[in-house]
Amino acid sequence: MPSVGTGVSRRLLGRLRDVMAGSGSAEERLNRTVGLIAEGLKADVCSCYVQRAGEVLELFATKGLLASAVHATRLRVGEGLVGLIAAQASPMAFADAQNHPAFAYRPETGEEIYRSLMGVPILRGGRVIGVLVVQNKTQRNYSEEEIETLETVAMVQAELVAGGLVPKEEQIAIDGNALLPLRIEGVRLNAGIAIGTAVIHRSQISVQRLVAEDLETELNRFKGALTAMHNQLDALLNSADMEAGGEHRDVIETYRMFAQDAGWIGRIAEAIQGGLTAEAAVQKVHDDTRARMSQVSDPYIRERLLDFEDLANRLTQHLAGKAGVTQELPDEAILIARTLGPAELLDYDRKKLKGLVLEEGSPTMHVAIIARALDIPVIGRAEGVLTRIEPMDLVIVDGDSNQVFVRPGEDIVAAFRANAVLRAERVAAYAAERDDPVVTIDGTQIGLHINAGLLADLHFMESSGALGIGLYRTEIPFMARHELPDVEAQTQIYGKIYEMAKGKPIVFRTLDVGGDKVLPYWNGAPEENPAMGWRSIRITLDRPAVLRQQLRALIRAAQGRPLSVMFPMISEVSELDKARDLLDRELAREIARGTPKPERLRVGTMLEVPALAFQTDALLKRVDFISVGSNDLVQFLFASDRGNPRLSDRYDTLAPSVLAFLKRLVEACRSKNVPLSLCGEMGGQPVDAMALIGIGFRSLSMHVPSIGPVRRMVRSLELAPFQSYLEEILDRPDRSLRLMLKAYARDHGVDIG
Ligand code: PEP
Ligand code: MG
Repeated sequence: MPSVGTGVSRRLLGRLRDVMAGSGSAEERLNRTVGLIAEGLKADVCSCYVQRAGEVLELFATKGLLASAVHATRLRVGEGLVGLIAAQASPMAFADAQNHPAFAYRPETGEEIYRSLMGVPILRGGRVIGVLVVQNKTQRNYSEEEIETLETVAMVQAELVAGGLVPKEEQIAIDGNALLPLRIEGVRLNAGIAIGTAVIHRSQISVQRLVAEDLETELNRFKGALTAMHNQLDALLNSADMEAGGEHRDVIETYRMFAQDAGWIGRIAEAIQGGLTAEAAVQKVHDDTRARMSQVSDPYIRERLLDFEDLANRLTQHLAGKAGVTQELPDEAILIARTLGPAELLDYDRKKLKGLVLEEGSPTMHVAIIARALDIPVIGRAEGVLTRIEPMDLVIVDGDSNQVFVRPGEDIVAAFRANAVLRAERVAAYAAERDDPVVTIDGTQIGLHINAGLLADLHFMESSGALGIGLYRTEIPFMARHELPDVEAQTQIYGKIYEMAKGKPIVFRTLDVGGDKVLPYWNGAPEENPAMGWRSIRITLDRPAVLRQQLRALIRAAQGRPLSVMFPMISEVSELDKARDLLDRELAREIARGTPKPERLRVGTMLEVPALAFQTDALLKRVDFISVGSNDLVQFLFASDRGNPRLSDRYDTLAPSVLAFLKRLVEACRSKNVPLSLCGEMGGQPVDAMALIGIGFRSLSMHVPSIGPVRRMVRSLELAPFQSYLEEILDRPDRSLRLMLKAYARDHGVDIG
């Protein structure tokens, strides 16, 4: 739909194109453009501020303000209305700018006579490089179309600003000497270690032609590229490695849906109508998206915006006739990207791609889910990697310790290589020990199970020798899709898990979303304190249809096989009763429909909210098993956010209070013969596992790589003397018993790795 202002926009763009192509220095041409823009938009002032090093916005050109202010007026990002536009990376318009609380009056500009102001960020590669502003003497309400036109014009101006107005090194801050070794901290999106050569992900093709010669031609080019891209995605979906029911497929299907999003397509078409070429229009929408993304805090929305970015890159490649041309990788490549779409990752040669480093990202983003399925270590939120890593640099991705080494010294490389060899040897040794009984020296048997959430996790269950799946997190297929998977889709997924588990027991945990795992179809209001908010069973009890559908799918997938269902985040027994009631009703309904009854139905709860432990009498009568979710439990016991890096070392899972709490629970469960397990991270740490066994746990569930080390610990532990020792130290006032327990292990030959 052409907007009202497209005629103005197109005329103005045509004139700007002539100036851009004309003679004179960048600054002279910039001066001419502000004049044209003021005239085109019937404004009294048009000014261009350019961002310089140190987050300073400097007035570079103006039509209307006092000429002496040029290069003299400077504002910090965030200061004044211009600074606000830069800080928020979004367009703003104020009919009465001078009375706005953020207005910063600069007398040298002579701006006191101008009432209204409209400004847009000048964006380049998703970064704000300046601000373009118009002002009027009258109190003017700028229209949507005028803002849109100014944005389009700002895109053309970005070329001038980036093309030599300020020295290149000022445009993007560079930390330190590019040739020195660096260690960059980030966030683990997938564990593991990889060493290789840096390859910078070239997602963007630079757009040469900005202003359209002929509108129809550009619209047709856009339509053609869109169709080609849709076809390419269909081919990807039909390719052999899209396992039915796998997460890959869900992710790409969702992505394919986005590629048909009418809003996105409409915005690009509108930008073409405004006078841009197809590439420039895609780029404009892409830049707007990026800028918007930097303002959004909701992780789900941020991740979906990332998918749109990926699509924009793909579309640009189609327009440039370069679709399907992927970057060649060296044999051991570490890909460096600001962010990456799921399909983009799959475009690379999986045999050569060893690791991934992203400037942005979160564990629930689509590309992280795919990387986990492919077993590629990933570090995200590694600040400034794109400017600090050069192509061909040697890079170590240390997904286990949340860091990236760039151009590391020989000693570091040697240490990591030796570590990699050791790891490989250790993995082989653990695999060889997979059938060794998990029994302490004095004969106590311990059950080890795996935590899983991806079908990929199940591939490793067999070689780990685990007894079964102690925790199956069902939320990932829900997160990978654009809408709630229906009963049939869920039945297929759970059926696949049964198949892959090959008769080993599985504990299916019902949907545990909310908190940081927001689903688009449950748009809850933003929460102050999401970890304690509307999440998990609280959501599914409020949306019982969702829980019933999931339970129905589980009963159907079981096909008469044993079924274990576990409810998460139960805070009081009455919640369990409600959930159990839904399960009973679904079971009755399914049996009436002729679905075979599960051979054995076991119903359990996670214990991760402390309050529940104070209702053990009632609780233990109602459940077949309990599993402690120590990740959440510990954060609630200490009132300490589990995701806050500033608090991560403050409280310890081996604090006397945690162990005392758990010991009481062990005793209560034992007295009523209710099986108790623990499925939080601590169960997979050998020292923690030793303490848990010491206080009476006989079953633990952990991520696959921990099974081998914990088995070794158990087999080298003599339980009786250790229990006596633990009994002695449990009441100590220390903040943690960790050091004492480590020393005990060392002195008594317990293998804690
Ligand atoms: C836990 O809280 O310990 C747990 C296992 O659940 P999640 O980590 O999925 O919240
Ligand atoms: Mg939990």
